[in-house]
Amino acid sequence: MTDIYYSSTRGGERGVTASQAILKGLAKDGGLFMPDVIPALDISPAEMAGMTYQEVAYEVMKLYLTDFTEDELKSCISSAYDGKFDTEEIAPLAKADGAYYLELFHGSTIAFKDMALSILPHLMTVSARKNKADHTIVILTATSGDTGKAAMAGFADVEGTRIIVFYPKNGVSRVQELQMLTQKGENTSVVGISGNFDDAQNGVKKIFGDREFAKELEERGYQLSSANSINIGRLVPQIVYYVYAYVKLLEHGEISGDEAINVTVPTGNFGNILAAYLAKRMGLPIKTLLCASNDNKVLYDFFRTGIYDRRREFILTSSPSMDILISSNLERLIYLSAGCDAAKTEELMASLTGEGSYGVSDEMKKNMSDFRGGFATQEENAAEIRRLYDRTGYLIDTHTGVASCVYRKYAAETGDQTKTVIASTASPYKFLKSVMEAVSGTDGSETDEFSLVPEMERASGVPAPAAIRDLQNAAIRHNRQCSPEEMKETVSDILK
Ligand SMILES: *Cc1c(COP(=O)(O)O)cnc(C)c1O
Repeated sequence: MTDIYYSSTRGGERGVTASQAILKGLAKDGGLFMPDVIPALDISPAEMAGMTYQEVAYEVMKLYLTDFTEDELKSCISSAYDGKFDTEEIAPLAKADGAYYLELFHGSTIAFKDMALSILPHLMTVSARKNKADHTIVILTATSGDTGKAAMAGFADVEGTRIIVFYPKNGVSRVQELQMLTQKGENTSVVGISGNFDDAQNGVKKIFGDREFAKELEERGYQLSSANSINIGRLVPQIVYYVYAYVKLLEHGEISGDEAINVTVPTGNFGNILAAYLAKRMGLPIKTLLCASNDNKVLYDFFRTGIYDRRREFILTSSPSMDILISSNLERLIYLSAGCDAAKTEELMASLTGEGSYGVSDEMKKNMSDFRGGFATQEENAAEIRRLYDRTGYLIDTHTGVASCVYRKYAAETGDQTKTVIASTASPYKFLKSVMEAVSGTDGSETDEFSLVPEMERASGVPAPAAIRDLQNAAIRHNRQCSPEEMKETVSDILK
């Protein structure tokens, strides 16, 4: 196997091994690490028929993490994808009304972030050992609601690590907030900020870019890293389930030979859909990547016009994990589309920070033509959740609702009948109130979320997952808050 090295999308770091890139999270120059070549699958989907999730994971991840030994990687995989998931399939496919819903929410925090964050701590520990890193690793994470809990669940009480999560105080669902505030583990900290997700993410990136602070922390025995999807250790495990889904479709006779499929992904930070794109570039037969947005449709506008413009109102929606105006991972697609031109990427990102927008050339836009944007308003989303439920009895969450709606609109508009996998990113139980409101068509703003559990059990025929049952009696363990400007001081204080 060829060794793969990683470079910053902004050119400041080159020749970085996978384990070093995982340890660092973000490159020193503020760029994101990208592999110098995208490896091709060395075994076809047909040859993978019959493989377990863990086996497929190894076939995909070994191509990227080339400085991990077979034993190291296999042990990370088996420690991650185990009984923490409530099904042996790990990521089952459900067929409803002609589309395939890839359920990525069977992990312990019932959202798709578990797919990568149950393995990241293991990859991180191995990486630290490999690089003889003797400092305590401090995972700094901004969350739009789901990453925070999944990252803490993964890193809780992992030796040699601390984890600090920043979330928008008024921008997450009640279940998401409670999941974070009740998190156990001596090494976990949660901070609500008076701002939105973009503020949290910018604050974290700023701390990463602060060399003086890094030095000060180093003297105190700490090294920063990230659990956000800017970390390549998040991105690589996310490629796996697209390959796995394709293999299962083949195995079940839903597709034949090397039939191309479409993929629809409810998108926020552009990590999940970028993983699907990498799967395509590795040789998986994917035709169109439908990038689904909610009312914060900055990506929809971008794919239509080639102009990325974040200067607009930030809208709080019923799909909070997609309420994002600065999609970090788009930088990786920009870099690839510019022919890995780091100077160009840096220039566009500077324009985004400075002016709040940038435009790409026609050539770059052409290089992104595998993508197509779509969006669903709150009302369209609720209507789709209800429509699908009424027609099939299958209940989806508000993020998957956005994707499902965008897919139906696309199919109607274009007549494209390509079989489509829709990434189903959260359990409907995580967004109880919005989902039950959608199904019943009523406004339940006064109701207590948990009182809706039996109702959802009846409606869906799926018993409430342990994550929800346990939450109702769990004690609140965190109560820190700060403003976006105080994030650095807060980190310093927590690490006292
Ligand atoms: C994080 C998240 C998304 C968005 O995924 P990105 O990788 O940030 O694009 C969508 N749905 C849910 C439920 C999420 O938690």
